[in-house]
Amino acid sequence: MENDAVSRCVACGAPVTADEIGLTKKLINRGTTEFYCIRCLSGRFRVREESLREMIIRFRKQGCTLFSPWIEDEEQNREEATK
Ligand SMILES: [Zn+2]
Repeated sequence: MENDAVSRCVACGAPVTADEIGLTKKLINRGTTEFYCIRCLSGRFRVREESLREMIIRFRKQGCTLFSPWIEDEEQNREEATK
């Protein structure tokens, strides 16, 4: 049975994280209901994946509500960002 609770990338079908959903909203449209994984966002916007991960970290540090909260643990954050 499909788990409908998991959002999937509309381009490749990979499960997307809350941060990827947040980034899609930032890059495309806050109201979008179609989300992309970081790899497809990278291809679509011709931005390197590392740059997108840095954007996610910057938005999280700013406390943007579209992203998961920033945790004051560098290792954990790095792990989160590379999921
Ligand atoms: Zn994808």
